[in-house]
Amino acid sequence: MTRPWNFSAGPSALPLEVLEQAAAEMTDWHGCGMSVMEMSHRGKQFMQIRDEAEADLRELLGVPDDYEVMFMQGGATAENAIVPMNLLGRAGSGRADYVLAGIWSNKSHKEAQRYGDIAVAASSGEAAQIDGRQQQAWTWFPEPQTWRVRADAAYVHVCSNETIGGVEFADWPDMAALGAADVPLVVDASSHFLSRPIDFSKAALVYAGAQKNAGPAGVTVVIARRDMIGHALPMCPSAFDYTNVAKNQSMFNTPPTYAIYIAGLVFKWIKRQGGVQALERANIAKAAELYASLDGSQFYRALVHPRWRSRMNAPFFLADESLNADFLAESQAAGLLQLKGHKSVGGMRASIYNAMPLEGVRALINFMQDFERRHG
Ligand SMILES: *Cc1c(COP(=O)(O)O)cnc(C)c1O
Repeated sequence: MTRPWNFSAGPSALPLEVLEQAAAEMTDWHGCGMSVMEMSHRGKQFMQIRDEAEADLRELLGVPDDYEVMFMQGGATAENAIVPMNLLGRAGSGRADYVLAGIWSNKSHKEAQRYGDIAVAASSGEAAQIDGRQQQAWTWFPEPQTWRVRADAAYVHVCSNETIGGVEFADWPDMAALGAADVPLVVDASSHFLSRPIDFSKAALVYAGAQKNAGPAGVTVVIARRDMIGHALPMCPSAFDYTNVAKNQSMFNTPPTYAIYIAGLVFKWIKRQGGVQALERANIAKAAELYASLDGSQFYRALVHPRWRSRMNAPFFLADESLNADFLAESQAAGLLQLKGHKSVGGMRASIYNAMPLEGVRALINFMQDFERRHG
């Protein structure tokens, strides 16, 4: 009996090995007689779990020593407020600039407006002609040369993988080359975190809710250069002030202990796979096969410009949308779960995070080709 393939955008599939290890350790972690859920967060067992999680994450991503790793709560949505509350005080201008390329960056931008003078640096919210292709709004990414960044902005914010639209932006700019050397780049990397390396020379702060690619819902990883810390606005809740979180090794208050533990197991699983670089190679291969299959068919359509197609989230449409309900019912019956697209975009979406092997992607492709033969 094999498990079905789960294409959920998040919370999403975790490696089976991780789930089995968590199950085996559920009632008695390493012979201590307690579940991880029952431990004091300040006891030596949990401190070991937390310290190993941070050390493994630092090793996997090559996090530089002058960056803090923080395990926070509230998801990426809370960071939409926590980032401006912590960073707007940095420059004295109270300004920040946002690049808009889909639903998540729009939400970040909207929330930040509550805290300062927030502007749009660039937006893909209109149709564009790119490389001879007619692109709809939110199916492409504004090139960094087109960003209008105010020189006195406290930061510029991007979402590097728009989970809903399936737009991925990986060529993070050198801000000095954009004439904004003093403006740090802040990145919501939630849905491709740990799927590819991160160039910390380009980003001063990267945050990611764990439930897409790094663990269960409930913990948000924030990796911030130290000079981003210590500028919180007076209104910032103490539990969300990076100064307090960093100074207390994410233990200013009770951290989400079980979520940190599971994320730590995922980090160890990634190390066993050969690290982030090995997973990146696998992710490239998976996405290449899926998009090649979509492009090779008139029956299915992928609308994102090939340059920015997400390796993690592939939205696609049936040319005949009256077949959507059949597609979903038949795919589910074939053991391919949660392929329905986000309601704001419609159609289908296959999320193929680290835990989805090539075998699962091929099962989807085979199903899609079979469905096309029967209904095309
Ligand atoms: C899922 C997601 C969010 C929101 O995460 P929550 O945990 O629901 O707050 C924000 N940004 C991106 C890119 C996401 O994929």
